[in-house]
Formats: sequence, C-alpha cells, structure tokens
Amino acid sequence: MTQIKNNWTDQELVALYNKPLMELLYEAATVHRQFHDPNKVQVSTLISIKTGGCPEDCGYCPQAARYHTNIETNDLMSVSQVKAMALRAKSNGSSRVCMGAAWRNVKDGEDFEQVLEMVRTINKLEMEVCCTLGMITENQAKRLAEAGLYAYNHNIDSSEEYYKEVISTRGFEDRLQTIANVRKTNVTVCSGGIIGMGESVADRCAMLRTLANMSPQPESVPINALVAVEGTPMEDQKPVEIWEMIRMVAVTRIAMPLTQVRLSAGRKDMSHEGQAMCFFAGANSIFAGDKLLTTPNPNVDDDMKLFAKLGMKPEKPFAKKAQPQTVEAQDSSFLPLGEKPKWTRPGHSIEKNKLASKKA
Ligand code: SF4
Repeated sequence: MTQIKNNWTDQELVALYNKPLMELLYEAATVHRQFHDPNKVQVSTLISIKTGGCPEDCGYCPQAARYHTNIETNDLMSVSQVKAMALRAKSNGSSRVCMGAAWRNVKDGEDFEQVLEMVRTINKLEMEVCCTLGMITENQAKRLAEAGLYAYNHNIDSSEEYYKEVISTRGFEDRLQTIANVRKTNVTVCSGGIIGMGESVADRCAMLRTLANMSPQPESVPINALVAVEGTPMEDQKPVEIWEMIRMVAVTRIAMPLTQVRLSAGRKDMSHEGQAMCFFAGANSIFAGDKLLTTPNPNVDDDMKLFAKLGMKPEKPFAKKAQPQTVEAQDSSFLPLGEKPKWTRPGHSIEKNKLASKKA
C-alpha cells in the first residue's frame, strides 16, 4: 500500500513528470485504485457570487479591474439567488457548490455576513459548501467553519519562484498563511494551480512539492489549464497540450494519493478521450456548469454523456467527510473583529501586467 509522503523533492517530482507516459499512467492509476473508486467523480458547481472589479493584478485573470476585458461584472448576489442556483446544481448531479468572490481579502461587515448566510443556506440543502473569497484571517475562517463551510479554496497558482512573474500585489507567503488559518478549523483545504502561464516543468513540480509536503495534504487539488483571455497580460500564451495536463494530473495523484484531483479551467478545450485519460491518470473531480467564473466550460449534458460512455457516476456529498453542523448567526461564538491584517504587497513590477493595464 502506498504511504502518504510529505518530504517530496523537486527532483523526484520532475523525474516522475518526465517518465515514459505509459509507465507514469500505470503508476498513477495503481495509486488511484488503492485510495478511490475509479468509477466515481465528484462534481462541483462554481458560482461567481461577486464578479469583476478586483484590485489584484493576477496576470491570468479577466476579473482584475486594471485589465480591459469584456466580462460582465456583478455585485454580491443575494442569498435567494445563490440558493436557487445551488438547487439547480444539485438537480444536475453536483454534490458541491463553490462560491467565488473577486476580493483581495475578506473584510468583516455586511457582505461577509451575507456570505455566511449563503454558507448556512447551502449546507442545509445537504450539499458540500466551498468558498473562495481571497485571503482570510483565523477568526474569519472560524466563522465560516461555524456556518457549516466544508472546504475553502485558495490556490497557490504556481511555484514560489514563478509566482513573482504572475502577481505583484500579494506574496506567495500570504497564500500559505490563509491556508494555515483554514487549517486551524475543521474546514477542508482546496488548493491547486494553473499550468500554461509560461512556467517550466520545474515550476509545476515545485508547486506540487509545496502542496504535497503540507501535512495534511490538501483534500482537493484543482489543476487548471490557462484560458488565455483577451485583454489580460497572458492573452498570447499558447494553449496547454493535453499531454501536459495528463502528466500533471498523474504526478498530482502519485504525490497526493488521498486528494480529490479536480479538472478545472481549460476542460472545454479537452476532448472526451483527453478527459478519459485524465480520469485514468487519477483525476476524480470536475467543475460542472457552462461557465467557470467568467470562462467557458462544457455543459452539464455533455458531462453526463461522457460519464455514461465511461461508466462513471457522480459521487454523493459528504462521501469523504461528515457534513459539518451549521450554527445560526444569533448563536455564534465568534464576533467580527474588524481586523486589518498586514498582507504583503511585494511591489515588484511585472512588465506584461503593467502593459496590459495601460492598453486601451
Ligand atoms: S484571481 Fe482572484 S484575486 Fe486574482 S485578480 Fe482574479 S479575482 Fe482577483
């Protein structure tokens, strides 16, 4: 039986990544079968509860206010809007709802209270609730946990080294701090990254080393292929080849045997055969719905056809961990603290980000 290992080196992971593909696939599929039912897929629906107008400068993101992209922005949705979308997702086979808000970090106040109410409402629908709201403090993580949050997503995006080529408005260590804050609760951690931003194989493996050497390892790891959006600094990046995606999924599976490896952005450009190979390599989760925040995604019918062809079934909610309790707002043990944490502003400059900001 494969042991969980938290002392991976970059060299070991690069060696795995570069193995002859059939050997890599066989090894990954063997590990996958030891820890998971290979015919089950966990299906999540991502709802953009607040879109656009973000103060950050992530080079891949059309939601950054400084870039000139063509997205429809929206203020924070109401609880009833989100509940209706969650019910639709549930009837389409999703076991998890992930709510994303384009914020740098969470600020205590009305909007956060509204998000906490969304968490309570969706948990009561017996769906796993995940949030991705930017950086959070320990107290905010505790308040989300108390509301019934199942998972918190906070991607590390790339290697620590390459992070400086992607984002200048926050540091890699801020990401790790938020993950550490989530770990002080019973909320599970979802953290992964993006390939195709111009990084090297060594960067991809260094990113996986950071995740795999966390103890415990993240319960879910989304692997995104960059969707190059016009107007962002990365608009000219060439698409990720399916072989790179398969290798990345396989190494993630071997390094993190227990985790749910999620096929995320970029799936729209993958054939059914390509996705099937990713499932064979150890992917066991997808994002469903025809939009992933702002970029296109396969529609639910297409996914269900694919599952039927492959004999795969959506996983039930709480298959890996029991449903958290929801504490109502009036019974809460935590007060909003109005903290103003000093998240870093590294201030290095990234030429392509500056150029994209200036472009009309
Ligand atoms: S990825 Fe998130 S933090 Fe970065 S610009 Fe987009 S919405 Fe903002």
